[in-house]
Amino acid sequence: MARRKKVYEGKAKILYEGPEPGTLVQYFKDDATAFNAEKRATIEGKGVLNNRLSEFFMTGLNAIGVPTHFIRRLNMREQLIRAVEIIPLEVVVRNVAAGSISKRLGIEEGTALPRPIVEFYFKNDELGDPLVSEEHIIAFGWASQQDMDDMVSLALRVNDFLSGLMLGVGIKLVDFKIEIGRVWDGDYMRLIVADEISPDSCRLWDIDTGKKLDKDVFRRDLGNLADAYTEVARRLGVMPQGPTGVTKPTLIN
Ligand code: UDP
Repeated sequence: MARRKKVYEGKAKILYEGPEPGTLVQYFKDDATAFNAEKRATIEGKGVLNNRLSEFFMTGLNAIGVPTHFIRRLNMREQLIRAVEIIPLEVVVRNVAAGSISKRLGIEEGTALPRPIVEFYFKNDELGDPLVSEEHIIAFGWASQQDMDDMVSLALRVNDFLSGLMLGVGIKLVDFKIEIGRVWDGDYMRLIVADEISPDSCRLWDIDTGKKLDKDVFRRDLGNLADAYTEVARRLGVMPQGPTGVTKPTLIN
């Protein structure tokens, strides 16, 4: 069998050519990185969990009319997606202060923000993904004014959807990052949610205990990352059997 062509390899995912023009296969690796890849590890089962969780969130978004690149899941680690032209920005939405906003502005972690705040970071590893303003984005031609409006509106719709979903299972959506891509239908261009939505790119805190259920578990050495992601998946009813498909032995009284 001919080996399929690798189109791109990132820190946590690989993209392969898809079966039809305009499609790609997105493969989720078990690799975890943080602090601009200074910290690395392989966490067994993470790729399987993120493939299923991203499928779950993107399917829900598609169903409520928020367009995403997700077409269908292919297997444990792969999904078929629409090829897009990625806008070189990380779009972050924050509901509660944590991470870089806490550091930059001296706001204590856990402080509720007066309204959701949308931020843009220029995707550039060498520069450490710097925060940029609308002025930079438009002046440098990364996106147009119309794109900016569409990106903010997409990001806030994703925020409302994800916040509600998480609240329903006792999790607070503190913040998250999405990436957005362009697709063309004939001459008509539109923006859709791309990349992934998973605990790798969100901050998720248990509502009652504040326990972290996201990549901060890895960044800050707080425990086993796969266990945290399994907990998120289990609460949402996604793969209740866990990433290995093996249920742990249980005592029968
Ligand atoms: N984030 C991400 N990829 C990045 C940077 C941030 O997925 O390259 C996510 C991060 O997991 C968090 C949100 O975006 O949910 C905001 O991150 P922040 O700016 O606080 O940066 P961090 O503290 O993660 O460096």
